[in-house]
Amino acid sequence: MALELTPRTLLGPGPSDVHPKILEAVGKKTIGHLDPQFVILMEEIKSLLKYAFKTKNEMTYTVSAPGSAGMETCFVNLVEPGDKVLVCINGVFGKRMLENVTRIGGVPVVLEFPWGKSVDPQRIEEELKKDSSIKIVSFVHGETSTGVLSDAEVIAKVARDHDCLTIVDTVTSFVGTPVEVDQWGLDAVYTGSQKCLSCIPGLSPVTFSERAISKCDQRKTPVQSWFLDISLIKNYWGSGEKRTYHHTAPVNSLYGLYESLLLVKEEGLENSWDRHLKNHMKLKEGLGELGLEYLVDEKERTPQLNAIRVPEGVDEAKVRSRLLNEFNIEIGAGLGPLAGKIWRIGLMGHSSSQDNINFLLDCLKKIL
Ligand SMILES: *Cc1c(COP(=O)(O)O)cnc(C)c1O
Repeated sequence: MALELTPRTLLGPGPSDVHPKILEAVGKKTIGHLDPQFVILMEEIKSLLKYAFKTKNEMTYTVSAPGSAGMETCFVNLVEPGDKVLVCINGVFGKRMLENVTRIGGVPVVLEFPWGKSVDPQRIEEELKKDSSIKIVSFVHGETSTGVLSDAEVIAKVARDHDCLTIVDTVTSFVGTPVEVDQWGLDAVYTGSQKCLSCIPGLSPVTFSERAISKCDQRKTPVQSWFLDISLIKNYWGSGEKRTYHHTAPVNSLYGLYESLLLVKEEGLENSWDRHLKNHMKLKEGLGELGLEYLVDEKERTPQLNAIRVPEGVDEAKVRSRLLNEFNIEIGAGLGPLAGKIWRIGLMGHSSSQDNINFLLDCLKKIL
């Protein structure tokens, strides 16, 4: 490449370090997106995604665009103008969910929680009891802006008890912490390729329950987005007879996704959850020795995203830029109300390793 790039160690909120095997896969010769070989690859990807999402959902595929497009796919297909949606907001991505509902012409009912706290299922229950016309509950499982993990299992149960569908953001949680789509009864779930999958950015795996698909089938109005409309995508990603052209799939990116899912299968999903948790504990121990503190209460932390309070009198941005310029390590800054107040250290996928933790702690020790 004509432009010289210095390699970095990616320990921020994403992208994470891409596994070398994935980079190698992406460089393989491009084939056509309707080639019978490619159809086999798509089927393999679907089956590996079902493994990783822990679901039997037939409609499990990958949106050819980043996580935000996965989010939008769930909202534009499930929400019709006039539909009432309970939107839980405890950080940046919940706010984006609200933006989606409003743009579609849905009627949002907003439940806000402090940034750094999880979504409280009890407040959802109260709201659903008060208003039986709410049809959908949306929330973020792992809030990357704050490092909070909410209890998706309990929230989904509350929603089901009140006959609501759920839209769940698992972009950061997927593969790094348990996500049990079928067991928890989640309905429309999306994730991203560049976080705990350690694949190249730009793909968004999604899965839809039968209940969700049946809501889509009963729509009275067409989905406002042609590109994201599941009823059209079905003919391309759906199993069976004749696949028809919908759009040119990002063939090489899908080679990468396939490789990344194989790596997850090889390690074992449960082992991957375990590795993320153990490395989080290691990092926590080292940060503690440096006198650094977490933003989030211990029981609500998501292991792959560590939100650390910037100590009094320390220049937040300067520490980040020294990490980047002197040691080639990228970590994240705080967003919104947390700007200048926290650092966000990601231990996602291939980036979640003992070596990276030791390296980062050494560098932080030198700087602080
Ligand atoms: C990164 C992220 C997204 C957005 O994904 P993009 O690939 O950047 O579009 C959405 N939700 C959460 C929780 C994320 O961490």
